[in-house]
Amino acid sequence: MLEPENKQGIVYLIGAGPGDPGLLTLRGRELLAQADVVVYDRLVHPAVLDYARAEALRVFVGKASARHTLTQEEINALLIRHAQEGKRVARLKGGDPFVFGRGGEEAEACRTAGVPFVVVPGITSAIAAPAYAGIPVTHRDAASSFCVITGHEREDAKESGRRTAGQAEGRRDWARLARAADTLIFLMGVEALPEIVARLQEHGREPETPIALVQWGTWPQQRVVSGTLANIVDRVREADLRPPAVCVVGEVVRLRERLRWFDDPKRQPLFGKRIVVTRAREQASGLVDMLRARGAEVLEYPTIRIEKLEDMTKLDEALRSLARYAWMVITSVNTVPVIAERLEALELDARAFAMTKVAAIGPATASVLREKLGIRADFVPTEAVAEALVDQWPDMEMRGKRVFLPRAREAREVLPERLRAMGAMVDVIPVYETVAMEQPGTLLEDLMAGNIDAITFTASSTVKNLMQALAIGSAESKLGAYLKGVCLAVIGPVTGQTLKEYGFEPTIVAEEHTMAGLVKALESYFAKRG
Ligand code: SAH
Repeated sequence: MLEPENKQGIVYLIGAGPGDPGLLTLRGRELLAQADVVVYDRLVHPAVLDYARAEALRVFVGKASARHTLTQEEINALLIRHAQEGKRVARLKGGDPFVFGRGGEEAEACRTAGVPFVVVPGITSAIAAPAYAGIPVTHRDAASSFCVITGHEREDAKESGRRTAGQAEGRRDWARLARAADTLIFLMGVEALPEIVARLQEHGREPETPIALVQWGTWPQQRVVSGTLANIVDRVREADLRPPAVCVVGEVVRLRERLRWFDDPKRQPLFGKRIVVTRAREQASGLVDMLRARGAEVLEYPTIRIEKLEDMTKLDEALRSLARYAWMVITSVNTVPVIAERLEALELDARAFAMTKVAAIGPATASVLREKLGIRADFVPTEAVAEALVDQWPDMEMRGKRVFLPRAREAREVLPERLRAMGAMVDVIPVYETVAMEQPGTLLEDLMAGNIDAITFTASSTVKNLMQALAIGSAESKLGAYLKGVCLAVIGPVTGQTLKEYGFEPTIVAEEHTMAGLVKALESYFAKRG
């Protein structure tokens, strides 16, 4: 009898890329989202794991440099066991799975066990780490070939069950390697660096040959040490640079001087800055992505979670009779998915709004409306606050008109009050609420250690919840002192006011009250501070 198809397990050998979560491939992300089990290493960025389903089992088999959690044989056995139980197993590896990743051995083990597998190549650190350091591995004027070599750190020798360090060493033909290509790229080369530079010079590479080590390439903590074959060992020792690092040798290294970008504080003022995002996970991703793209290290401490209310009868009633409403006002991106879901449940679509004009509080909300509902807002005020919305309200004749206002359970009354004062009949319908989340303890620890450069606040609720979670009653309290040296960045004056109520002066108030505006404000703040 045939097994039902979904009982057939499979192993996906996925390259997670070098670090920056944006460097995972689309195929990798797609398969990761299907996996039942995710087996991953130390060099995989934690944000990449977020693409797996929440229910997926996550197994860390990483290499805490000295001691491995699992041997290669144990990893192979683990993959095969889960696949044979019918699971879809994502084997996530740093960089590319077939570049010194031992992916080949894992694929062989699958083949031997009769377990099907798929390989998803990844962006290898061999090319990406130099790229993020502003070093192209080839260049018309400087190099027409490159070669990727294992630096054969002790780590690597120990890792291998089959061959000894001596045998691997014996295979190394330095005379050939030194001339193998214009650009030489060593992975796992930090510990063996003195030997590498000595042998390269012995075999004809000039002492002035440029060389650079890129540590944690593409990560917010990326560090680069450069020099020449003659002086690099001292420089690396002085900088106390440790693995993981990619070592690049050749004329192309000189290009960094002109092409440095990712870790250049002049071009990327947020590079290396540790910035806290307190937004709910559901709505933080835009801000998190923008900050990461500018080199910031983002620490996500969501203080609130968005939860749809249980009782949807009022909303359903309104949606069924939308023609009665002259206007619908959407004051938050959180409202839109709830409306989309109810429309679907009621077997309605955007045509239900044919008779109703739509106002959105700001550009972000307007764009979610377009994306999720296919509705183009008729009116968006120039400033994303309730006051601006009513001040600039475009409909002069509101007397007797009905307004549909779906929103959070707790919200300010300005909007309905002022619309009513204009003569409108306003139906306020709560559709979601923000629920405070418990805080993981490390935020307080990070604050006390002075590890945080900035905290972002995107709504008054994020201020209140953060203060509550940290048990900070006011700026005068003992814990309040830890917030004083930190840049407190708010999205707009309303959120800023809430912060003031706790006795803290906002360091930054974004001029444009959007997440992009907040990021811009952070950039110019840190650019000025240098
Ligand atoms: N399959 C991986 C390489 C695994 S071997 C790839 O394709 O990138 C592990 C070595 O890779 C490390 O010792 C280091 O030399 C290098 N490496 C991996 N990620 C790195 C990163 N983000 N920055 C610098 N080096 C990295």
